[in-house]
Amino acid sequence: MAITLPELPYAKNALEPFIGSQTLEIHHGKHHKAYVDNGNKLIEGTDLADLPLEDIVKKVAGDPSKAGIFNNAAQVWNHSFYWKCMKPNGGGAPTGAVADKIKADFGSYEKFVEEFKNAGATQFGSGWAWLVVDGGKLKVTKTPNAETPITQGLKPILVVDVWEHAYYLDYQNRRPDYLTTFVDKLINWDFVNSCLA
Ligand code: MN
Repeated sequence: MAITLPELPYAKNALEPFIGSQTLEIHHGKHHKAYVDNGNKLIEGTDLADLPLEDIVKKVAGDPSKAGIFNNAAQVWNHSFYWKCMKPNGGGAPTGAVADKIKADFGSYEKFVEEFKNAGATQFGSGWAWLVVDGGKLKVTKTPNAETPITQGLKPILVVDVWEHAYYLDYQNRRPDYLTTFVDKLINWDFVNSCLA
């Protein structure tokens, strides 16, 4: 099958107390898995079945007759990327190339944080807030539902999931608190730097 469920890059309790093991159990084991299973059912026997996931997402994007495939495949890609954007004892100001690039393109780390958290907080309903490379410059952007910057010629280097299923058990309606914790305690800047390289 072309679409697979990656293992989490850490134990289910590794992000506690910021994201609980029950959230990861359901988010990865139920939500993410359902996108994988549904995506595979929809591409079975079609010319998409043997393509890499990223190619499937790009190929069906914008085609209303393939919306089901897009939604499931893009959600698989977005979630697989999201898990890698977090780590235990992460967050805080970055080091390395991304630190310099953030300062150059946003003015300061604080300004980046303000824009990133604002994007997540103002995404109405379900979606994602991203840090992307756009023509060589870093930019914060947000997408609704399953939409993903990889179909827009942008290179994602960081994402936060702002679907309620990502934070409701731990933060209930307090999405801004989840975003603050994500930035201060969870971001895996080593992974972000590897995406930038
Ligand atoms: Mn999610």
